[in-house]
Amino acid sequence: DDERLQSVKKLLQQLRKAGFKAYIVGGAVRDLLLNRSINDIDLTTDATPSDLLGLFPDAKLTGIAHGTLTVVDKGYAFEVTTFRTEGPYRDGRRPAFVTFETDLMKDLSRRDFTMNAIAMDEEGIFYDPYDGISDLARKEIRAVGEPELRFREDGLRIARAYRFSAMLNFTIAPETKQALQHCATKLGQVSMERRRDEWTKWLTYASATDCANLPQQIFSQWTGLTVPKTVLQCKFYSMIHGYLDRLALMSLAINNNATDKPEESTVQLLSSMKYSRKEMREVAALVVIASSYLREPPSFLPLQWTSLLAQIGESGLIRAVHIAKAMQFARSQEPWNVNWRIESEREVTDLLAHSPLRSLHDLAVTGEDLLKSCNLRGKEIGAALSLLYENVSQGVLRNERAELMRYIHSLKHLLQGGD
Ligand code: ATP
Ligand code: MG
Repeated sequence: DDERLQSVKKLLQQLRKAGFKAYIVGGAVRDLLLNRSINDIDLTTDATPSDLLGLFPDAKLTGIAHGTLTVVDKGYAFEVTTFRTEGPYRDGRRPAFVTFETDLMKDLSRRDFTMNAIAMDEEGIFYDPYDGISDLARKEIRAVGEPELRFREDGLRIARAYRFSAMLNFTIAPETKQALQHCATKLGQVSMERRRDEWTKWLTYASATDCANLPQQIFSQWTGLTVPKTVLQCKFYSMIHGYLDRLALMSLAINNNATDKPEESTVQLLSSMKYSRKEMREVAALVVIASSYLREPPSFLPLQWTSLLAQIGESGLIRAVHIAKAMQFARSQEPWNVNWRIESEREVTDLLAHSPLRSLHDLAVTGEDLLKSCNLRGKEIGAALSLLYENVSQGVLRNERAELMRYIHSLKHLLQGGD
């Protein structure tokens, strides 16, 4: 991080030498003051995008509408944005237009919270017109300016207040809190993509207390879900980490046995929140395994799990069992066994050790064999293979070609009687 800060300092000096004002702003200054590791570094300057391109010809225009350029130095990327204040808002969504401003104070005034409205120059001097440094010391999230006005301008700030509260373990200042509850429906008007990004971060950081403190109305406006907030039952969220695993838990809790189609309902949930296909597939795999485990912990690797295992790996299997166990604890209201993690890992290791097959491909016969020598067709082949998979896994049959073929021949009439 030191090297990155040196690199950004050099950049600020370069801009200063060229006659421009330039400052670090936003999350980087906040995190520096909190002694937290810094995420992305944003710079604000009175240089216009074309000035910037003149100074840094390799810079990439990354946010044309906002006049944002990405400058890369020694492999570190910095977002440089020209001072701006935002034009009038339509329907609490995006600003209608952006006007370039030559005033740092105006740039800071459009920022969401006092702790995010601090600028720092290359000498390490802070510009803190909203007393953000005191709020950092108080561990308080406070809106810049009139809270209701700010939340009506952009409803996403409501989600961001809760997200920062979870991330930094800060409380929300009373007037700010009152205003965001008042304006909750503004959050629902924000695009799902923006709401989702904040939800992902909130889910990543939320503790049991954060779950308990999220008002039902904000939860519904944020996620677009009409289900009770109890799907965020406190104690079991603290057992599971990572937003994908927590999304899996949410999906399980929402359905809570109400559906025998865990995959479909998970895909529906995640697509309603605009998560990507990749995220959807991973979460669905976790949910399918977890709900099958909840129905009955298997004694060998179920055929249904094998393709999922190929997708998410052994570590994914352990994650799914963790999720299932967390759900079990939540339902039973029992105090959790402190060794539950180690036990789940051992269970998965044992399960794999007791499973002679990891997929249909491990069988000593193939669908081709069944087609040629047993004269089975389409669906019958699938049924025969899964029957073989079960029997070999249970130790009823040995995984030898001759034995498997004999077995299928003896059942041929039954298999063909199906249709
Ligand atoms: P993180 O560490 O998660 O990146 P951050 O504070 O940097 O936190 P960003 O979303 O990267 O958050 O935004 C950078 C800065 O831009 C913020 O610190 C804030 O000053 C400003 N900002 C971002 N979103 C908004 C918003 N919706 N309304 C007003 N200001 C905003
Ligand atoms: Mg940031």
